Amino acid sequence: MTLPAGTRTAGRAAGLGPSVFAEMTELAVRTGSVNLGQGFPETDGPPAILEAARQAVLGGSNQYPPLGGTPRLRRAAAAQREKRYGTPYDPDTEVVVTSGATEAITAAVLALCGPGEEIVFFDPSYDSYPAAAALAGAVCRRVPLRPSPDGFSYDPADLRAAVTPATRVLLLNTPHNPTGKVFTHQELADIADVCVDLDLVAVVDEVYEYLVYDGLVHRPLASLPGMAERTLTVSSAGKTFSLTGWKVGWACGPADLIAAVRSVKQYLTYATAAPLQDAVALALESHEPWVTALRHTLSGNRDTLARALGVAGLEVVPAQGGYFLQAAVTAGGPDAAAYCRALPYSSGVVAIPTGAFTDGSGRYGDLVRFSFCKTPGTLAEVAKRLTSRV
Ligand code: PMP
Ligand code: GLN
Repeated sequence: MTLPAGTRTAGRAAGLGPSVFAEMTELAVRTGSVNLGQGFPETDGPPAILEAARQAVLGGSNQYPPLGGTPRLRRAAAAQREKRYGTPYDPDTEVVVTSGATEAITAAVLALCGPGEEIVFFDPSYDSYPAAAALAGAVCRRVPLRPSPDGFSYDPADLRAAVTPATRVLLLNTPHNPTGKVFTHQELADIADVCVDLDLVAVVDEVYEYLVYDGLVHRPLASLPGMAERTLTVSSAGKTFSLTGWKVGWACGPADLIAAVRSVKQYLTYATAAPLQDAVALALESHEPWVTALRHTLSGNRDTLARALGVAGLEVVPAQGGYFLQAAVTAGGPDAAAYCRALPYSSGVVAIPTGAFTDGSGRYGDLVRFSFCKTPGTLAEVAKRLTSRV
């Protein structure tokens, strides 16, 4: 799975193999399985937004937009944060549009961490975090999330122990991929205390900010006392508006941190797809009801999938947000990697062993990640397949 170090490739590319997502999507296509591996919606975003992009292309929005994003999208992103969370940003200096959340996170890590400096994040994690750290030459410090019948939690002592004098950045993701955890207000307060006490910059990946279930509320770390001036908050149209292929994201934060992200972005992509930016601005300005409906569909899907996994003999860990459920392959059965290798052939379903989201330590060896960002019909079909083996 990993690229070998070789004479024609730089060391930093070694270890950055094909992503587990691409691998699992290829396996699903090859075996004709339902793909609950890579997290992408089966249904595209709002029709009026697709139409706005079409009109933007035909209307001549086809040359380089400003490096930091179109003024309308920057204004819309700032207005959304202020209205929804009460956190004000200056659209000219405190917002940057990026080619997906991925670019914002990678640019932030490259801008903030030098070789040998440290970045702390929770384990398991989204795969781009260790990759961005590797590109920066930075060292990852992982704080384990532990599953229980109530969901995932961490030991605050582990978080404090992970931070050293070399730590520059705490990278938080809530709602969390791959666990579905929504960090509680108490946990956010604890994380904020660590950042303030130890003078860390927080980079917070909030791509699932709207996808929070069971009446819970997403709370940005940047809204906690002492955090606005040290937090970069990253969002994406991919998850909020089911437009993952558009790769339009943005970051909001204090002007010096945004300027640093912008300087790196300048030489990664320079600018982000022009015609998509005003369409995403329109989505932010007018499509909250559409996202509310998406949230309801997804929470129903989560429940359908959880029931099916339970009937199939897996132990589901409760998830409160995002696209994913974790389930343990119960004692006596195969391990999660073996389970995922067999599942396409036994049941016509693809899922990802959670071990792919950690550092090869063997942690989470019994857990499997299933995505539920599909149509209710697809989830009903999965329920049938999982419970009646094909
Ligand atoms: N962060 C998390 C937690 C994700 O799950 C994903 C995948 N969608 C991303 C970042 C990447 O987002 P984008 O496609 O906007 O780059
Ligand atoms: N965010 C998606 C997931 O976790 C995948 C994104 C990708 O393929 N890079 O499944």
